[in-house]
Order: sequence, then C-alpha cells, then structure tokens
Amino acid sequence: MNSVETFDCIVIGGGPAGCAAATILAEYGHRVVVLEREKFPRYHIGESMIPFTYPSLERLGLVPVMKQSGFVKKYSVQFVSPSGHASQPFYFFNRYDRETIAQTWQVLRSEFDEILMGQARSKGADVREQHTVEEFLREEGRYVGVRARNADGEQFEFRAPVTIDASGRDAVAATRNAWRRGDPMLNKVAVWTYYEGSKRDAGLDEGQTTVAFIPHKGWFWHIPQHNNRVSVGVVADGKYLTRDGLKDPQAIFEREIPSNKWIQDRLSTGTCTGEYWLTAEYTFRSEYCSADGLILVGDAYGFLDPVFSSGLMLALKSGVAGADAVHEALVAGDTSAERFRAYGEMMQRSMENMRKLVYAFYDPNVSFRTVTERFPEMNGALTDCLSGDMEKDYSALHQALGEWTKVPDDLPYGRPQPRRTPELVAA
Ligand SMILES: Cc1cc2nc3c(=O)[nH]c(=O)nc-3n(C[C@H](O)[C@H](O)[C@H](O)COP(=O)(O)OP(=O)(O)OC[C@H]3O[C@@H](n4cnc5c(N)ncnc54)[C@H](O)[C@@H]3O)c2cc1C
Repeated sequence: MNSVETFDCIVIGGGPAGCAAATILAEYGHRVVVLEREKFPRYHIGESMIPFTYPSLERLGLVPVMKQSGFVKKYSVQFVSPSGHASQPFYFFNRYDRETIAQTWQVLRSEFDEILMGQARSKGADVREQHTVEEFLREEGRYVGVRARNADGEQFEFRAPVTIDASGRDAVAATRNAWRRGDPMLNKVAVWTYYEGSKRDAGLDEGQTTVAFIPHKGWFWHIPQHNNRVSVGVVADGKYLTRDGLKDPQAIFEREIPSNKWIQDRLSTGTCTGEYWLTAEYTFRSEYCSADGLILVGDAYGFLDPVFSSGLMLALKSGVAGADAVHEALVAGDTSAERFRAYGEMMQRSMENMRKLVYAFYDPNVSFRTVTERFPEMNGALTDCLSGDMEKDYSALHQALGEWTKVPDDLPYGRPQPRRTPELVAA
C-alpha cells in the first residue's frame, strides 16, 4: 500500500456522470478525487444527445464550449420503414426554444468526455487517470473509501465520507453487491461500426438521427458525426440477429444492411472504418440508489436500451443531481443512505417514464403515429418524454398507450438501501 489520502468525496469513473458530479462538487468547494481506469481520450459508445441534455450542459458551464465545438448539430430525428420510406423529420425547434433546449449535438465521445474531464479539473477536482478501483472500504456497514491500483501496479487507499459510483455499465457497486437487476423484456443485442464518406443530408438535416426499422422490431441507428463519419448500428433480439448460427459481428451487421433500403442506400457509397463492436443484455437497474456513504449515478445506477438516446441526458442529469444531494449531505454532516432518497426517486421516475416508452416501441402492436392520430392531444406529451423532459406526469400518455399495449408497472428498485438487512428484520 503506497499511501492513504482523504477527500470529501471520491468519484469512481471519469465518464460523463462522474465528471459532471465532480465539477459540481468542486464548484461547491469540496475536495473531490476522480479515479478513472482509462487514459483519456478513450473510445466510448453513446454519441447522440437529446434536447433536455441542455440544462445539465448549462449547469456545467459547457454550453459555450459546445456551441464553438466541431460537433455536428442535431436538429431532428426521423423514422424510416424497412422499404426506405422516411417520416417527416421531427424538428426540436418546432416545440422548444431554438437557442436553448432545442440545441443538441452528435458527439464523438473521446472528444466530448475529454471536455467534461477538463471542466472537472478546471473547477478543482483532482482527476487521476489509469487508476482502477478494485475494492470498497467498509467500516461497520458503511462505505468509507476505496482501494485503487494505478497502471504501474501500485495500490492506493482513498478515504471520504461519501463515494459516488459513476463506473458506467461496469456498475462496480451494483455488481459486487448483487444489486444488478436485468430486464428480460429488453434483452437486446447491438452491433455497430463507423463509415466514412457515406451519403448524408445537407443543411439542417445533416446531423439528423435516423431510426431505421428492420423486421421483428429491430432497428438501425444512423448518427452523422463530424469529419464525415457516421456511427451506424443495429439492435434487435439476440435470437433474430444470430439466426442460423451467425456469431461474427461484421457478418451480423452486413446481413442486416439490405433489411432497410434507406440504410443500404446511405452506406452504398461509404467505407467502413474497420472495427465492429457488439454488446448484449444491456438494460439493468440497481436495486438500490445508495447505501450509507455511497451513491450511484449514471449507468452505474441503471442503463436503459438506447433507442431514444437517453443515456447521456440521464448520466449528466444524475451526475448533477447526485452532486447536489452529496453537497447537502456533506454540509449536514450526514451521508447516510436515506439522505439520497429524493435523488433516487427522481431518477427512478425519469427512468420509468423513458422505460415505458421503450417497451411501447418494441411492442409490435404499437405505432406512435397511430397513437397520436387517435389521441392528438398526446402529441405534446410524447414529444416531451422523447426529448428527455423527465419531470412531468405522463400518466395520461401511459393510459393512452394502454389501448395498444400493457404498460409495465414501475420497477420496485432504485431506493436507498435499508439500514437493517431483510434477515435482521425477519429475526
Ligand atoms: C449500444 C449503445 C448505444 C448507445 N447510444 C447512445 C446514444 O445514442 N445516446 C446516448 O445518450 N447514450 C447512448 N448510449 C448510452 C451511453 O453510452 C451511456 O448512457 C453513457 O456513456 C453513461 O455515462 P456514464 O458516465 O454513466 O458511464 P461511462 O460513460 O461508461 O463512464 C464510466 C467510466 O468509468 C470508468 N470505470 C469503470 N470501472 C472503473 C473502475 N473500477 N475504476 C475506475 N474507473 C472505472 C470507465 O473507464 C468509464 O470511463 C448507448 C449505449 C450503448 C450500449
């Protein structure tokens, strides 16, 4: 063991959620250390933002940086049928202020995450790259710090009254404590790659996200980025994508291209940049949002199928809200699990609203166009939810969706860990 250092707060993971939390806490004047396993810039998937990412970017002081960046501006989303028929683009500025909420971007995560990390550092957070958290330190049931190892194999101990787990889908706390709860209905597989020089729209629609359907409720994403690159991936049930025993990601991807004529046409002139990526079984939630001395943010709290590009919005929102809750707890001198109840409930509500729409999206009986034709008054609610306005009551929308699908009940997860274990209670 090389040294023991003490901070007000330890953040595990320097991705968007972790760096957002560290930026806010450092701004409040707390001593924060961020422990990040990788050396930045590093590759990461999750490149398309939605409008309500804006308030978090604003709170983090990053709007001017984003406006001056080379990231492609995203003004709209469109849906394309397997035959290649494209819906009218939905332009965010038709509903939200063009200069604020309606401003959103397609980012290259290596660059975007480095901006966030730079912002955390500039506010005073102590960010240490190539530091992998290997172990939690616990005393009398509460979390009091972590043990981490650097790239040279040296071990360090960090202590703080509160640790923020922002370790992404590694979900260090949820995985080690067996709090990770999968979602069998959203057990999808995604395969993706990048193209250069493929066909893209000009002008306002250049940065448009396209969701292009394939049979069996599968879909392609098509996300135009800067430097003439496009991120393109296919998502569907694992059984469908791997039918006839196909396992190789490239073979899976290439077999699906002709299933959507629009995608086939777009990629016909481009060159694949090389690597193919695959991920499976990715939707999950942590049973708890907090324990004594511990709070979970971003994907480490829960990850939802990416069809509506909600990941970055939720990661930044939870990083900011989690940091506000931690600040209040530090000021009060009480970082017990219960301090984070309101935070957990807010995140739970946000994820449940989005999850109900994701379920509807995958139900063969549901078409959002049919829903809004029958209930035109639901147009606004549907748009707001898909844009990431998570603080609203969407019960009328859920009721309307109930005409076509069984809207799932709220999951009973995401609240603070009770202090007494169920065994003790039973005894
Ligand atoms: C196929 C797919 C497509 C997606 N598409 C979109 C999209 O279009 N739009 C969107 O908004 N979102 C999308 N997402 C989701 C998005 O990627 C995530 O929601 C987002 O990255 C979450 O940010 P985070 O900070 O919580 O986690 P991450 O970005 O994963 O950051 C976590 C960090 O923690 C570090 N870490 C992990 N373990 C340790 C450890 N033990 N010690 C130290 N550091 C550690 C990692 O190195 C990483 O840098 C997609 C996800 C997938 C899988």
